[in-house]
Amino acid sequence: MSVQTPSTLQKLALQALLRDEALAMSSLVEVPFLLFPALFKEAFAGRVKKLIKAMVATWTFPCLPVGALMKSPNLETLQAVLDGIDMRLTRESHPSRGKFQVLDLRNVHHTFWDIWAGAEDGSCSSESLDEKPTVVKVCRRYARRRQLKVVADLCLSPHHDETQAYFLKWAQQRKDSLHLCCINMKIWAMPVDFVLDILNVFHPEHIEKFKLNTENVFNLARFAPCFWQMRNLHKLLLARFCKNNFKIANRTGYREDKCVKEFISIFSKFNCLQHLSMCGVHFLTDHTNQVFRCLMIPLESLSITHYQISQSDLDSFSCCQSLFQLKHLEMKGVVLQVLDVRPLRGFLEKVVKTLETLNLQGCRMKDSQLNVLLPSLIQCSQLTKINFYSNDFFMPILKNLLQHTAIWSKMNVEQYPAPLECYDECAQVSVERFAQLCQDLMDTLRAIRQPKSLSFATRECHKCGECCVYGKRARLCFCWR
Ligand SMILES: [Zn+2]
Repeated sequence: MSVQTPSTLQKLALQALLRDEALAMSSLVEVPFLLFPALFKEAFAGRVKKLIKAMVATWTFPCLPVGALMKSPNLETLQAVLDGIDMRLTRESHPSRGKFQVLDLRNVHHTFWDIWAGAEDGSCSSESLDEKPTVVKVCRRYARRRQLKVVADLCLSPHHDETQAYFLKWAQQRKDSLHLCCINMKIWAMPVDFVLDILNVFHPEHIEKFKLNTENVFNLARFAPCFWQMRNLHKLLLARFCKNNFKIANRTGYREDKCVKEFISIFSKFNCLQHLSMCGVHFLTDHTNQVFRCLMIPLESLSITHYQISQSDLDSFSCCQSLFQLKHLEMKGVVLQVLDVRPLRGFLEKVVKTLETLNLQGCRMKDSQLNVLLPSLIQCSQLTKINFYSNDFFMPILKNLLQHTAIWSKMNVEQYPAPLECYDECAQVSVERFAQLCQDLMDTLRAIRQPKSLSFATRECHKCGECCVYGKRARLCFCWR
């Protein structure tokens, strides 16, 4: 109780000050340096616009991590903050404002406010779990210019809100007087010209995570000059946004091949790319191996999903050095049914000491294919998560797999397909057999180790689209409820 009294008193005093905006403005110069963040936080929460603007204009800490205070986008408070920046830009430099270097609009640096303005709820602890504050690297060229840096994460889509639209316009008008920096950029189905304009303001070299949903390979090729500049990119996510595009059947010959070639060559420029995710990027069929060969450093995670993989693509898995330190592999919806999966076994042999998660959901593999993978799969001692849902295995092979997984001591979540014996001749789930066989498999596994989260699922029901899942309890599809 006694520990909290001073901060409560301080809060009351600050709130009293905020009730009279004119008084607050006039006494700003007298507010002790150490109380500045607490006053700013209160002003921001109360949307006291003039005070916010004046405080940004006279901010003395090196960074103003205002994004952490923006729980939901608010145009008025953002305007006040940006107006404060404008005031700094138009005034002569002032010694008391010398230290301020970065306006951070991202939802990071919560600890700054916890330390300087007191934690108001339990939210502070979440930072250490899922939010690694990015250390913003100041490029030497810009540092020399001593420009104020504005850092933001951008999500560009046709539905972006008025707050972001205002910010983008503001940034575009000030691109020569500020150092504008976007670390995490997501682009969802936007016109290429618009995105190129944005990348002219937020220079690609600062982007660390880039997510692009685009229509076709021709659009993608237009981004090539920007990709070439993304020297700090460590995570790239590509996806189609329209199901009917990217089909091999739509290939238009020479022009498309040229674009594909150009696109592949950009991978040789990513010096720090560690995470690659491609969903439905069908134009890479028969070219995936070339992408792997272009990679500059070993990948940590690879996700190739809903994609028509060819045998030559799969072959490259066992011979590309850049994949041999993978921690996470996802191939959800990549149909392997008719392919020779020996290269995948070769790959697993290389990553037995590093692979932590493996998602082969919907690969529609058969018993013979799991048999091929088995010897190296059961050696993967670091696995924490595995997903084999929607593959076609019978009871004996599943039992055989589970009986040989004693080494999987780190396993947290394991998901297997319900054995094919669960279906009747019309491909309908026999609920009784489903429960009995899944329980049998559970008992088999429990005899050799204690699973943390274990479940078996049927294919999606033809009628309702749901699966029957057998885990701690059985959950049947809608037809049975
Ligand atoms: Zn159903």
